[in-house]
Amino acid sequence: MSPYLLAPSIIASNFLKLGDEIAACESAGADWIHVDVMDGHFVPTITVGPLFVEACRRATKLPLDVHLMVSNPDQQLEAFAKAGANHLTVHVETCTNLLKTIEKIKSLGCNVGITLNPLTPASALDEALPLVDLVLVMSVTAGFSGQAFMPEMIGKVEEVRNKLNALRSQAWLQVDGGINVKTLPLMYKAGANVFVTGNAAFKHPQGVGEGIRVLRESVSS
Ligand code: ZN
Repeated sequence: MSPYLLAPSIIASNFLKLGDEIAACESAGADWIHVDVMDGHFVPTITVGPLFVEACRRATKLPLDVHLMVSNPDQQLEAFAKAGANHLTVHVETCTNLLKTIEKIKSLGCNVGITLNPLTPASALDEALPLVDLVLVMSVTAGFSGQAFMPEMIGKVEEVRNKLNALRSQAWLQVDGGINVKTLPLMYKAGANVFVTGNAAFKHPQGVGEGIRVLRESVSS
């Protein structure tokens, strides 16, 4: 069985206990902390910004995986890098010059991620694919926590996996949206190796530690 990573989405946590929630993720073996940044413009919801990323940074040494659902990512990259982001993922729909944005993220010392909404074809990634460290396939439309998983995105993950393999790319293939103990194994089989989980981790009746443990065990060898 090939290894895979779990990246709990911290905006699904209880902000009143942010430090404890992050510590619980760490002790349950989470690999990254995923931060969903929404600007109220590219997507209807507003979530958190660089100050929140900075607070997470003070709470953990785990990589902070920042997913920017914002209209003008170029203007925000530096602030998030300074706040302590390790990975910056931008939507191809928001970049007027994707290659330039990728260069900028690299120059800030962060790993580069690119992502796309369900309605955007995988071909939108082609030009940038050889240059990135991470590809995120959205399994729901960006913008709200708690949406239902779109099964038709399984084929898209397979398509992106084939593209990465053809390039002999070691980039992570991440999925985000509606990932739980049922959908995680499907996306794993399709070729994803990093799983963002919101409610499935944080809203588990026995707490986030148990939520992460059962997700970890959902892929059988
Ligand atoms: Zn995300």
